[in-house]
Amino acid sequence: MEYKQRTVTCGQLRKSDDGKPVVLNGWVHRDRNHGGIHFINLRDRYGITQVVVGENAPKDVVDVADQLHMEYCIAVEGIVHARPDSMVNPDMPTGEIEVEVVGMQILSACEPVPFLIDEDSDAKEETRLRYRYLDLRSTNMQKRIKLRHDFVRAIREFLSERDFYEIETPTLIRSTPEGARDFLVPSRIYPGKFYALPQSPQLLKQILMVSGFDKYFQIARCYRDEDARGDRQLEFTQLDMEMSFVKRDDVLLVMEQLFGHVFKKTMDVQLPEHFTRLSWHDAMNTYGVDKPDLRYDLPLVDVDDLARESSFATFKSVLETGGCVKAVKAPASTSVAFSRKYISELEDAAKIYGAKGLAWIKVGAAGALEGGVSKFFGGLEASLVERMGAKEGDMILFVADQWKKTCNSLGAVRIKLAKDLALIDPKAFAFSWIIDFPLFEFNEDRGHWEAAHHMFSMPQAQYLDTLEDDPGSVKGDLYDLVLNGYEVASGSIRIHDVELQKRIFRICNIPDAEAEERFGFLLNAFRYGPPPHGGIAPGIDRMVMIMAGQTSIKEVIAFPKNTAAISPMDDSPSYVDQNQLDDLHLIIKQPDKNA
Ligand code: ASP
Repeated sequence: MEYKQRTVTCGQLRKSDDGKPVVLNGWVHRDRNHGGIHFINLRDRYGITQVVVGENAPKDVVDVADQLHMEYCIAVEGIVHARPDSMVNPDMPTGEIEVEVVGMQILSACEPVPFLIDEDSDAKEETRLRYRYLDLRSTNMQKRIKLRHDFVRAIREFLSERDFYEIETPTLIRSTPEGARDFLVPSRIYPGKFYALPQSPQLLKQILMVSGFDKYFQIARCYRDEDARGDRQLEFTQLDMEMSFVKRDDVLLVMEQLFGHVFKKTMDVQLPEHFTRLSWHDAMNTYGVDKPDLRYDLPLVDVDDLARESSFATFKSVLETGGCVKAVKAPASTSVAFSRKYISELEDAAKIYGAKGLAWIKVGAAGALEGGVSKFFGGLEASLVERMGAKEGDMILFVADQWKKTCNSLGAVRIKLAKDLALIDPKAFAFSWIIDFPLFEFNEDRGHWEAAHHMFSMPQAQYLDTLEDDPGSVKGDLYDLVLNGYEVASGSIRIHDVELQKRIFRICNIPDAEAEERFGFLLNAFRYGPPPHGGIAPGIDRMVMIMAGQTSIKEVIAFPKNTAAISPMDDSPSYVDQNQLDDLHLIIKQPDKNA
């Protein structure tokens, strides 16, 4: 089809273009017909321009304009006119001009759209994903995809500048499950054998260090065959990084500088030079989670001593059995009344993490304690109010249980309070490092120790001699980067010694023979002069989601799966032909697609 190709985009024209002949290509965003005059908002990726089919327009143009519907793709030939001052639209970058149409061609028609293309679509998620090509036309999806592009570009710029090489690693690899289930790809050539899609390029990036590449990164797609749960995708993207001859603080510094650069470049946000560091224990103890949202404070406060002096038998018995009592302050609020109903909502949040209940006290005039368990704190009013930094109208909430349960439960209350009482600055970016994590956790179901992060992380030096004696007490050279309450990166200094690596495998219930079978290629590489090394892998989807002020990663992924792991647009996963199965030597047991 012959058509007039654009000479300008829909976001480009300004007053200084007055009088210019132009051609625009784009989509009919809106078409208002006022007494025979068409005011058409023409849209492309760059913006929206008002084009006008006026009273004096040629007849063939009017005929075409009369056929237009929303989202038709058209070519417009016209003359730019500066609008009179009174007609300038200050909300549109192109609002100083309009284009008088002298020629118009429909490039392609559009069926009635299932939802209006606007800043955001108000359709159900399922509909948005089914018609993702339309959903992606919305201004805000376009902005977010651009932000993602800018983000990745700024990363590439910074790391290339710092001597990192971008190296691709294969997506068909040996199956070495890292915690989640692997996606498997059957080999046609070798019946019964499978490749796996990488859960991350972990072992390959370590091997690249053995090969002397020194500084590596990759914008890496990772695949984990997990049940649909929360805001997860089966495939996601990490900025995968690894460096040789580094210690923990070198890795943390590079990341601080990287994100300092990226945030400045993409959002003009100045981050602090260094991020707050918290040990895993302090994060749990003070905020009740290992990924605390530090946009607000609301610390969990230890009140064991006051609880012991009180006359509240429940608290005392928890203390006697080795538990603890912690409290958090709900600051007085003008929008939320601390009613029984609200307190029971807070209690529900605590119970999700196993708390048996949530005790409370309100602070009245002159520091008097009122309601709830206040009667048990006679004589301790001033000490409690001072400890909590409370004032009139505040409420104090308590959980008493074993340490971890107390932290987790009251941590959930803290998060709910911050949301309900609007204590969060939505524009803030609060980064923190969580360090000194336990290296192992005990898997009750399997009855053995497992790596808390992954099995290739280095134990801290002081535990090296006694790893096997008490795995639960071993701290690893591990670090997580947390942003606004989300874990956005995990990493560690790695083991580079075959014997130590085998000891870790053994603690994780992997005997030497099995280790050789599953991880022999890594152990072999470690027999050839591996350098000390470490790395980290920030999640790109999640970081861009937070930067874009969103709460679901689907908002920053062009073609995500829905929560049931299905892509409604192309209906994957799908059945395949019998001959494809035959090629792959596969027989499907269940389900029968006709059943
Ligand atoms: N490969 C790890 C992960 O995907 C990150 C790392 O340790 O670098 O969680």
